[in-house]
Parts: sequence; C-alpha cells; structure tokens
Amino acid sequence: MMKPDYKELDTLVIGAGQAGIAMSEHLSRQDVPHLVLEKNRIAEAWRSCRWDSLVANGPAWHDRFPGLEFSNTSPESFVPKEQVADYFNEYVKKFDLPVKTGVEVLSAVKNKNSSGFTVETTAGTYQVERIVSATGPFQTPVIPSIAPTDEELCQIHSADYRNPQQLPEGAVLVVGAGSSGVQIAEELRQSGKTVYLSVGPHDRPPRRYRGRDFVWWLGVLGLWEASASEPGKEHVTIAVSGANGGKTIDFRQLAAEGIRLVGRTQAFANDCVIFDHDLADNIRLGDENYLSLLDRADAYVEQNGLDLPEEPDARTLLPDPDCMLNPTYQLNLRQAGVSAIIWATGYSTDYSWLKVEAFNEQNRPVHHRGVANYPGVYFLGLPWLSRRGSSFIWGVWHDAKFIADQIVIQRQYQQYRN
Ligand SMILES: Cc1cc2nc3c(=O)[nH]c(=O)nc-3n(C[C@H](O)[C@H](O)[C@H](O)COP(=O)(O)OP(=O)(O)OC[C@H]3O[C@@H](n4cnc5c(N)ncnc54)[C@H](O)[C@@H]3O)c2cc1C
Repeated sequence: MMKPDYKELDTLVIGAGQAGIAMSEHLSRQDVPHLVLEKNRIAEAWRSCRWDSLVANGPAWHDRFPGLEFSNTSPESFVPKEQVADYFNEYVKKFDLPVKTGVEVLSAVKNKNSSGFTVETTAGTYQVERIVSATGPFQTPVIPSIAPTDEELCQIHSADYRNPQQLPEGAVLVVGAGSSGVQIAEELRQSGKTVYLSVGPHDRPPRRYRGRDFVWWLGVLGLWEASASEPGKEHVTIAVSGANGGKTIDFRQLAAEGIRLVGRTQAFANDCVIFDHDLADNIRLGDENYLSLLDRADAYVEQNGLDLPEEPDARTLLPDPDCMLNPTYQLNLRQAGVSAIIWATGYSTDYSWLKVEAFNEQNRPVHHRGVANYPGVYFLGLPWLSRRGSSFIWGVWHDAKFIADQIVIQRQYQQYRN
C-alpha cells in the first residue's frame, strides 16, 4: 500500500468522477503536485448508480472532454453509460493522471497554527495544502418526507432503479418528470406496465431542430454559459433524453403512449395519493419553453444568414390529452393496483467529511466559481457552479481549468520569498 505523502502533497482532489479527472488534468498541465483519491472506482456513478439502459443525454461529439474523443462510436450517437465510464478510465490512462482508487476520505480538518489540512483516509493520514472536493453533485438520493409508510408498497429512488424486471407485478407511480423520471416511466410503459407519471414544472428543449441537436443550440445561443437560472426557475427540472437515438420529450406523446399523467404529488393518506391541480399548467409552460427555444433558434438562423432547413412541423403540438382535460387529483393506490413508487426526485450532497466553515445554514458550499470562502478549499462539479454547463461533462472541464488557475495563483503567493 502506498504511504501517505506527508508535506509534499500540495493538492488533494477527492472523487474520481468526471470532475476529479478534469481537475487532475489541469493540475498536471500546470505542474501542481497532487493526488486524486476515490473511494470506489473511476467514474463509479456512471458504472453503478444509474439504470441499465441509460445513455448520455448529449451526443458523443459534445458530452466529452476536449482531449479525447469516444472511440468506436458515431459523433452523433448517445453513448451508453458503461462506455462513458470506460471513456473516463481511458482518459486517466491517456494523461497518466495520479488517481488512487479504493480510498475513502473520512475527514479533512484545518491545521492549527500551520498551513494546510490534515486529511484522514482509509489508507492513512495526509497533510495537504489544498483540498478540491469533487465528490459529485448527485450524491445522496432524496425521497421527500411525504412518502407513505405502507410496507407493502415497493418504493425506490431512481438511483436504485435498474430495469422493469426489478419491480413487482402491478402498476407503478413515477414521481418526478425530469430526465430520469421521464425515461424510467417510458421504459416501464414499454415493458407493458400501467404507469402514472407525476409531472412538475419542467423545461423541455427540442432534441433536434433544423438539423442541429439542442446542445448545439444552447451553445451558439450562449445558454450553456448562463451564470444563473432565470428568476423563479430555480426548481424547474429539465426533461431531455438520448434514449432510443434521442427524441424530444413530449408529455402529450407520452400520454398518447398510455402513460397516465398527473400533477405534482402532494400527499398520501388512507391508501390514496393526492396530486396538485397543476398538470395542465406544467405541460403548457413546458410547451412554452420548447417553443421559445425554437423562436430563439429561428432568430439566430436569420441574424446569421445560416442555411439550415426550415422545420415548421416542429411547432405543431398534439391536442390536449384526456389527462389534461379530465385530470386525476386523487388516486387510490390499492384500487389502481399500484405496487411500486419510483421517486425520481433528485439528490443532495454530503460534505460531512469536510470539517471546515465553508457552508451556509442550509449546509450548501459558499463559493465563487468553486473557490470557497474558506482559504484552501475548492468545490467542483456542482450545478450552476459557474454556469449552466457546470455539472455536465463538458462544462466541468472548463470549471476545473479556472480552479487550477486559482490554485496556481495561490501557490505563487505562498512561494513568494519562501
Ligand atoms: C441519471 C443521470 C444521468 C446523467 N446524464 C448525464 C449526461 O448524459 N451528460 C452529462 O454531461 N451529465 C449527465 N449527468 C450529470 C453528471 O454528469 C453526472 O452526475 C456525473 O456523474 C457527475 O460527475 P462528478 O465527477 O461531478 O460526480 P460523480 O460522478 O458522482 O463522482 C464523484 C466521485 O466521488 C467519490 N467520492 C465521494 N465521496 C468520497 C470520499 N469521501 N472519499 C473518496 N471518494 C469519494 C464517489 O465515489 C464518486 O466516484 C447525469 C446525472 C444523472 C444523475
């Protein structure tokens, strides 16, 4: 077993998902001595924390780091999750990055009367000057407290969903209609199950428009670079999918396929689940969001004189489905034969190991573009860390570059007349 590298270790990166790997590449480029510690395997989240059929949300030409293309796949394809994990392993090899797997960081404490931190791990103690937390934006699955206590119901978080065969016979309620909830609901429906999908506020960009994928449109329109979500849209999820070759998420189409859409899940009582009266509003706002991106795309084409084929059919919406016209506000789970609930309700973070005052009252990191308000601590990979793209594969690489620059600047000050 490797011995801890006392004093000589400048920067410790915790986590070897895409964020930790990007960080290591940039630190290596700038000759910053560092080590990445990963408690599991490289890109473990892609390997074992996603359902079997998951593919990347963005096409292979986009959802990658600049230094390596996906091998054996078309640039327009949506890469299966195992291949994404393989890609990051290949990346570590290609750039010879110092990653040590199977080592968990248990605690990091600021040294008293000396610079740096003492870091306890399952492989001994490290003394480091700086810490980059790349432990992931989606760490701890969140199931809201309204979840019923009925032990006969099978309840799992989307993080634990793998495939339809895993569920007991009977209908399923999927709560949450972001990218995960929608894809899981559709897979369950295609397997023959009766599916109820609880739909909250969402954005739903067109998968492709006028021959270009939405990732391209967000890029040229500068929307990946937006530094904060629009006011009032902080809790709006985005419904987008690369499944089945990639298609626009269309709730009207899902209803036509037999998925029973309901509003936001509000409460459970006496075998019943109560839904908000917001389904029609949520779907209409989603449609508005979809159409507004088409408008912006058309304006961009015109302003720049681009020769992209017109696509007027993209503006034709299916009629309002019955579930919008005659909404279900209450469902008796037993009578409806619902035997399982899948909570596609998101994740929180866990920084219990990082024992420094770098958090606010809600236990969220306080930082500017990943540079914590606590000297020597950096965060990477979080949603909106610096921009919309921050928690996505390509965006984290750019955030890591900025943080590496900041670390180099601090090292220069520390080395001044040293
Ligand atoms: C279902 C789903 C689909 C997604 N699809 C896409 C997509 O298609 N394209 C895209 O760009 N983004 C996608 N994302 C978003 C994002 O890219 C992934 O969540 C990605 O895994 C985040 O990478 P990360 O490195 O920040 O965190 P993670 O991949 O979670 O890596 C963090 C690592 O830190 C390790 N770790 C945590 N605590 C410790 C500790 N104390 N000591 C040592 N190691 C520790 C973990 O084991 C883990 O390996 C998706 C997210 C989800 C949930």
